[in-house]
Amino acid sequence: MKIAFHGAARTVTGSKHLLTLKNGKKILFDCGMFQGLGDKTDELNSQFGFDAKSVDFLLLSHAHIDHSGLIPKLVKEGFNGKIFCTPATKDLTEILLEDSAQIQRDDTKFINKKRAKQGLPAYEPLYDLENAKDVIPLMQTVEYDQWVSFCDNEAQVMFTDAGHIIGSASVHLKVKDDGKETVFTFSGDVGRYNDVILRSPETFLQSDYIIIESTYGNSLHEKIANPGDVLHDWIIKTCVNKKGKLVIPSFSVGRTQELLYFLNQMFNEGRLPKVPVYVDSPLSYEATQVVKSHPENFNKTIKKLLETDNDPFDFPGLNFTKSVDESKAINDNPQPMVIISASGMADAGRIKHHIANNIGDQKNTILMVGFCEPHSLGGRLMNGAKEVRIYGETFNVIAEVGSMRSMSAHGDYDDLCQFLACQNPALVKTLFIVHGEEAVQLDFQQRLLKKNFKDVIVPHLHEEFNLT
Ligand SMILES: [Zn+2]
Ligand SMILES: [Zn+2]
Repeated sequence: MKIAFHGAARTVTGSKHLLTLKNGKKILFDCGMFQGLGDKTDELNSQFGFDAKSVDFLLLSHAHIDHSGLIPKLVKEGFNGKIFCTPATKDLTEILLEDSAQIQRDDTKFINKKRAKQGLPAYEPLYDLENAKDVIPLMQTVEYDQWVSFCDNEAQVMFTDAGHIIGSASVHLKVKDDGKETVFTFSGDVGRYNDVILRSPETFLQSDYIIIESTYGNSLHEKIANPGDVLHDWIIKTCVNKKGKLVIPSFSVGRTQELLYFLNQMFNEGRLPKVPVYVDSPLSYEATQVVKSHPENFNKTIKKLLETDNDPFDFPGLNFTKSVDESKAINDNPQPMVIISASGMADAGRIKHHIANNIGDQKNTILMVGFCEPHSLGGRLMNGAKEVRIYGETFNVIAEVGSMRSMSAHGDYDDLCQFLACQNPALVKTLFIVHGEEAVQLDFQQRLLKKNFKDVIVPHLHEEFNLT
């Protein structure tokens, strides 16, 4: 058997790990897109490093684009096998891939206008909406904690909850080769223990080979004050005391539902001021619908809450806006309000308009609630920029800028160690470290060797290993 790492190798994005069995069958773990790597990004996404037609099965850990974003390209280039994933991952992947196709269409239109002026040939997007839709019929859902046979009964797959986003899983694979069974575990993205909505990552069976993510492989998350209380303070300060608008850039999947959950809690406790809350992002609306439709994946606290509150993400005063006209109407309304919109780093989407419209007035607040790349608009605001450029125009930062160190969707070093604690290191033949910055990975490698894992490897892009 052989395993090759065609993405998330010494970098975070582009998750793609290809296992070749002795009989030649090929099983791919994830088919993610490379993101945010500057000029290199397009080139990395243009070539898989393997023939799409040669892949027999795809095992998908979760819906995030850095794990699913190139499936339409894989299908476009001839992959026609089954894609195994959990039911919530299927629902979420469907909306995220359509969104990704639309973003590419809009971006290419913009780029090609420029290229045409320079007499350059037009760019082709990686895939279109039709290619994204072609993925869905190939998806076969598998509930958590159940072994399912495939590949002519030569392999079995099981998903366990990874606690990262709704539907997210660690993928376990049993393969029979010459009568001998080998167990693989691919961690997917590992969440935190004790999330507000999701369950904690599950333990899993002893594995021969483990592929583990390492986003926070050498650091610990800061302990933070109750985010619900921090959010409440900002609403009182901005909307009640100053009669301003509280503008919150937020990721559509995960963070937005967490904010709605906190706001709903405030309402239940009778301390949510009477100010309207607008979620202004069609994708955030759809993602919230997907989360709501999978209560089986909630943790015990939310399941208990469901006995008395039939919708923990909805409360009086909450509005979802879909059309551009509705979005513009929010801007024309001078009343105090809370606006939650995507993207989380404020470098794309409707949130840019809201920031542009509200940044010039001291009574408003822009509240950052998640991680932002330092060069993104959100990152520059968080770092105290006095002026920022939005749509080619310069704006003075007069509004207050706040940050609520919210919880990451990724576990930290301690969480990753807890995830691995169910394993006897002496029985793990090799541990492969993926999905992290190179320096973090090399540090994590040393830490794992000290924890008695014998063979810990940080693969390079397209590097292949023989497994005995
Ligand atoms: Zn993820
Ligand atoms: Zn990821």
